[in-house]
Amino acid sequence: MSGSTECVFCKIATGEIPCLKLFEDEDCLAFLDIGPLAEGHALLIPKRHYQSLADLPGAQLGRMAAHLPRLAAAIVQATEAEGFNVLQNDGQVAGQVVPHVHIHVVPRRPGDSLGYRWNAGSYPAGRAEELCTEIRRALA
Ligand code: 5GP
Ligand code: ZN
Repeated sequence: MSGSTECVFCKIATGEIPCLKLFEDEDCLAFLDIGPLAEGHALLIPKRHYQSLADLPGAQLGRMAAHLPRLAAAIVQATEAEGFNVLQNDGQVAGQVVPHVHIHVVPRRPGDSLGYRWNAGSYPAGRAEELCTEIRRALA
């Protein structure tokens, strides 16, 4: 397994730092977040070190993401939640603190104080079409 010697999640993946493990397989590991936004807040990580989701091979992400339905359902059941947020902060500007890709699963209850609403914006005339073309070009 490649990793960064300074990375806290690499250390969790190797067992050097303990965690409250929910499950693991060959590629990935899920454990409770040490600073939960709500009880049951969990993190799903690849065992290999990747800083950004954009660096993660699609097949690896697929194997990891395949666990999400079961993980989220188990967290909802165990915490008696009514829903959940799946979040991935990518890059410092997006709030990523630990530079090892991780997916947050945060259970939600009616009336909890977490909130989660971005202010929806709008495009000036023609800008959405322009951006759509630029992104499609980047995808090609
Ligand atoms: P980020 O802001 O990078 O998306 O989220 C990092 C998350 O990792 C935070 O929610 C934080 O509480 C959690 N975290 C940081 N260090 C540790 C640790 O050593 N153990 C566990 N279980 N969670 C951690
Ligand atoms: Zn790492």
